[in-house]
Amino acid sequence: MDFKHKGRILIVDDSEAVRESVAATVRTLGEVGPITEVADGFAALQVIRAEVPDLIVCDLTMPRCDGLQFLRLRAQIDRLVEVPVIMLTAHTGPEQRMSLFEAGASDYVQKPWVTGELAARVRVHLRAKLQRDELTRTNARLEEMTCRDALTGAHNRRHFDLSLSTELAKVDRMALPLSLLILDIDHFKLVNDQLGHIEGDAVLRSLAGLLQRSVRATDLVSRYGGEEFAVLLPGTSGPGARLLAERLRGRVAAFPFFAGEQAGRQLTSSFGVATVLPGGERVDAATLIRRADAALYEAKRSGRNRVRSWEEPRRTSSGNLPAVAPAPPNRSMS
Ligand code: GH3
Ligand code: MG
Ligand code: MG
Repeated sequence: MDFKHKGRILIVDDSEAVRESVAATVRTLGEVGPITEVADGFAALQVIRAEVPDLIVCDLTMPRCDGLQFLRLRAQIDRLVEVPVIMLTAHTGPEQRMSLFEAGASDYVQKPWVTGELAARVRVHLRAKLQRDELTRTNARLEEMTCRDALTGAHNRRHFDLSLSTELAKVDRMALPLSLLILDIDHFKLVNDQLGHIEGDAVLRSLAGLLQRSVRATDLVSRYGGEEFAVLLPGTSGPGARLLAERLRGRVAAFPFFAGEQAGRQLTSSFGVATVLPGGERVDAATLIRRADAALYEAKRSGRNRVRSWEEPRRTSSGNLPAVAPAPPNRSMS
């Protein structure tokens, strides 16, 4: 186990003798990481700015920034709220002890303390803190997994749907355009047929990586279906989205998909682009997807390896919109 997971301890006391005695007690646990000692609350806050400890043992009475003041300052710093503080108190009454808990202390030990008692309290609070940290990390990992496609590591359809709703809501509120690209690998079935599904899967992974490396951090690459990816471009209008789609198209076409032992295999992809502009027609998620899909279908129909944008259907001579919008492609979503 590395030091970080053993827990860093910060000891705050104006008496060097007390600090050393606390440090010696803590060391008897044999399961802690580095121990830092400082003489008052201000110095403690400075140390904390550089590195947040896992547990703090703090004296109550100190000449500069005493324990209670320190607790109150700490309560204003978000990342410190989870760090347990054990207060070292002289013989205090219940009122004063209660005020320590109110100010955020986790526990207290009266001076002079029995070594075993201080050690036991440090152990209990440190273990609980490290377990909470582990749980937080696990939750973050699980949260991340629920957003990702297991095969390619791109965002998954669920996350795409959530992000699309959020970004659509921002179009008018923040007066920013939003574009959507949907791309589909051309003749991907041939890759599976000629090389097998395992190689097909590797192509999908490479493509996801290539797309992710080619867009801004604020753009969102998702696996939309089998060999189709969606790229959501917040703040990007039609011309910008077409430019990016053209760049991606070129990169995919130039990418050697089976580098290494086999010669690089060239693959192409087709792109559909649709955009929502602020202050314009209200477009919901399904409509935007349908438009990008229709543009993609047009890119396929007109020869593949190209970018097409959704264009508003022209009015007929009678001034009416055509009754039927372009039919979406009937593509497999395996
Ligand atoms: P087009 O140019 O018209 O898009 O032709 P295509 O062959 O790419 O299109 P089609 O939709 O007929 O085939 C898509 C293929 O993608 C068929 C399906 O088996 C394959 N596919 C979908 N998901 C996966 C996957 O996760 N792994 C692999 N290896 N193949 C997949
Ligand atoms: Mg395809
Ligand atoms: Mg497809």
